[in-house]
Amino acid sequence: MPAERAPPVLSAPQKMLQAARLAQAVPALAAGYVRALGRWQGDPVLRLVGRPIITECYRSAKRQDELYAQGRTAPGPIVTYKRGGESNHNVLPSVALDVAFLLPSGEVSWSGLLLSKFARLVKAADARVHWGGDWPGFKDRPHFELVR
Ligand SMILES: [Zn+2]
Repeated sequence: MPAERAPPVLSAPQKMLQAARLAQAVPALAAGYVRALGRWQGDPVLRLVGRPIITECYRSAKRQDELYAQGRTAPGPIVTYKRGGESNHNVLPSVALDVAFLLPSGEVSWSGLLLSKFARLVKAADARVHWGGDWPGFKDRPHFELVR
C-alpha cells in the first residue's frame, strides 16, 4: 500500500494533547466533536484525506490578546476580533474549540473544504453547535462553539 493511501495517525504525545484539549471543553461540545470525529474516521474516503485535530480549546486572556495583536500591531493576518476575556475560548470549561486537519504528509491544514465537511458532521451530531464558517461577515472556519 503506497504511503499516501495510509490515513494520518496521531503519535502518542499528539493523542495526549488532543485528550487534554478535549477535556477543556464543556461536555456537550466535547461529545458533539467526538461523535463527528467518529463519523469522519468511519468514512473510507475522509479518513484518508486528513485527521481532524483540536488546535485550541481554552485560551487564556493573555493568549487572546496576543492573537488580537496579530494583523494589527504584530505580523500576520487578522485571526480574531475579540480581545482578552471577550472570546468564547476564554472561559473554562471552554464553550469553543478550533479545528484543523493532520494530513498524511504530517502537515496541518486549515482547508475550508475539509472544515465545511467536518462542520456538517458536527452540526448533525449536535444542532446546538454553531460553526464559525456560517457567520455573516468574518468567517472563522476553524471555530466551533456551543453557547446558550
Ligand atoms: Zn475559535
